[in-house]
Amino acid sequence: AKGRGRNGYQFYAPSMTGDGVDRLRVEAMLRRSIEKNEIFLNFQPQVEIDTGRLIGVEALVRWQSPELGLVPPIRFISMAEDTGFINQLGKWVLHESCRQMVRWEQAGLVVPKIAVNLSVKQFERGSIVSMVSAILAETGLAAERLQLEVTESVIMNTGDALVFINDLHAIGAGLAIDDFGTGYSSLAYLKQLPVQTLKIDRSFIKDISTDVNDEAITIAIIQLGKSLNLSVIAEGVETAEQAEFLLRNGCNLAQGYFFGKPVLPGELLARWIGGGQK
Ligand code: C2E
Ligand code: CA
Ligand code: CA
Ligand code: CA
Repeated sequence: AKGRGRNGYQFYAPSMTGDGVDRLRVEAMLRRSIEKNEIFLNFQPQVEIDTGRLIGVEALVRWQSPELGLVPPIRFISMAEDTGFINQLGKWVLHESCRQMVRWEQAGLVVPKIAVNLSVKQFERGSIVSMVSAILAETGLAAERLQLEVTESVIMNTGDALVFINDLHAIGAGLAIDDFGTGYSSLAYLKQLPVQTLKIDRSFIKDISTDVNDEAITIAIIQLGKSLNLSVIAEGVETAEQAEFLLRNGCNLAQGYFFGKPVLPGELLARWIGGGQK
């Protein structure tokens, strides 16, 4: 049962067959995906809207399966979380991300920061801080250049989130709240946690020019970030109008197809070497 998704993704949809056998097969394939070199990363630019300057990239994982085609992360991340494979996968992503920063630098491109997504499951084992510091030490990447992205659910559902996040801060890594505004959570954590960045969820940006509620929420998040001295970045910016709206309302950082899609390391290098937008 294969379906063709948006973005040319061809993905396997176990729900189409309805039984659990396919799921087990897919889980088994996923478990071997790293050793079979089927996992790779794309990197999406994060830019300063007014100058077009590259301020960072976000690492986004991809699974190219010979049997299933290119499987989108929304399909395999939750499976990896259910099976526990996420710990191995998350570690691989972080390691590869840090190594890539060093490789770009050797090729003449200094990417100021790399953002890496962390799953809630990676916090449940308690070893996240030692894993991060070991990878930083091994790759030689300065901790300040690593930004870890977590959703509000990580903060609300992880018993020791406060401890882990403070430890990550202590080693110098930055923290961004991903998909900000979509989770249900108290805002109180914002004053307790060493958070540097709020990422406005794409769902708010999408209808900015037509939906007054989305505009109001976006403006409120920008103001909240300002008041708390946090940087605010908008995700999913696809049009010049959206970028202008953000700039006009005090948000100068953005990520989205308008500025660049997630691409392979070589493509990012080709586009950004020399520091400017081409
Ligand atoms: P996310 O962290 O919110 O990442 C942003 C997603 O929005 C990415 O989808 C990106 O390709 C997409 N995107 C960026 N700009 C635009 C735009 O202008 N328009 C539209 N329509 N989409 C845009 P992707 O790569 O499919 O990843 C989906 C989700 O999978 C991520 O959402 C994240 O939650 C998860 N994910 C991806 N890589 C990793 C990873 O290494 N570890 C973990 N734990 N989760 C990951
Ligand atoms: Ca993210
Ligand atoms: Ca996000
Ligand atoms: Ca999102």
